[in-house]
Amino acid sequence: MTELARSRRGPSTGRVLVLGGTAEARRLAGRLVAEGVDVLSSLAGRVADPVLPPGEVRVGGFGGTAGLAAALDGVAALVDATHPFAATMTAHAAAAAAVTGTPLLRLQRPGWTAQPGDDWRWVDSLDEAATAVAGHRSVLLTTGRQGLAAFARLAAHCVVRSVDPPEPPLPARATVVLARGPFTVEDERALMTAHGVDVVVTKDSGGPMTAAKLTAARQLGVPVVLVRRPPLPEGVPVAATVEEAAVWALRWSGTTRPPATPRPR
Ligand code: NAP
Repeated sequence: MTELARSRRGPSTGRVLVLGGTAEARRLAGRLVAEGVDVLSSLAGRVADPVLPPGEVRVGGFGGTAGLAAALDGVAALVDATHPFAATMTAHAAAAAAVTGTPLLRLQRPGWTAQPGDDWRWVDSLDEAATAVAGHRSVLLTTGRQGLAAFARLAAHCVVRSVDPPEPPLPARATVVLARGPFTVEDERALMTAHGVDVVVTKDSGGPMTAAKLTAARQLGVPVVLVRRPPLPEGVPVAATVEEAAVWALRWSGTTRPPATPRPR
């Protein structure tokens, strides 16, 4: 927050608002709570039984950019630690932070990189992913329970894995597997083998929690279709690790000296 914005909005409470729904957001909240920071974590409310972060938690949308801007009253710093594909929330965070003069950091884990032996095909959308797997017999869909409409017309058998029951329309020949990561490579190999999976579809979520499917696919010689991440808003600094974000938030919360903001990536 600039000094001008601080003086306009009165003294800061040192509160840090963490937009969450990811393992990194939970770890960041835990780290900041342990340091005595006043942390409010926000969840969208998509998952019926979410793993809750330490500290105070609110659930549900803010009501667009204007609602989030109103919620930033008394917030010293905002960390957008939502999933790399939560593009709407990320855009709202950038807009609300700009309007209110609230310091904003994007915490986003790096995407996955291919290793020798991987057979990866990159696409820009779920629709393109559906086209890419059209000739296959058995597809493992790990793109989450939303957006499955893109695959509704597939003739292939689809194994749909998600935390909560997926939203229709589903592919005509779908087997739903309800499960929450992390998964082991052995689990993933067993799932793929049991269903004769000959292609995997995933978003480029990054991180270790759901990476075992990539190793299993490599070991089984199964190709993977990866959906590229949406672009980040211009000018918002990005931290790749929880520790980097914690240092930034600790400083803005007033626990340590003012921050050296990471450069936009
Ligand atoms: P989205 O499309 O970017 O956001 C849609 C709307 O949901 C937002 O405009 C906002 O409503 C609300 N919202 C999203 N994240 C929120 C949060 N942390 N706190 C309060 N409201 C939130 O979001 P999404 O892709 O559906 O993701 C929803 C949640 O699931 C996020 O917390 C994200 O981190 C998590 N998640 C997403 C994915 C994925 O693949 N997209 C994967 C794993 C986890 P208002 O406009 O009313 O404020």
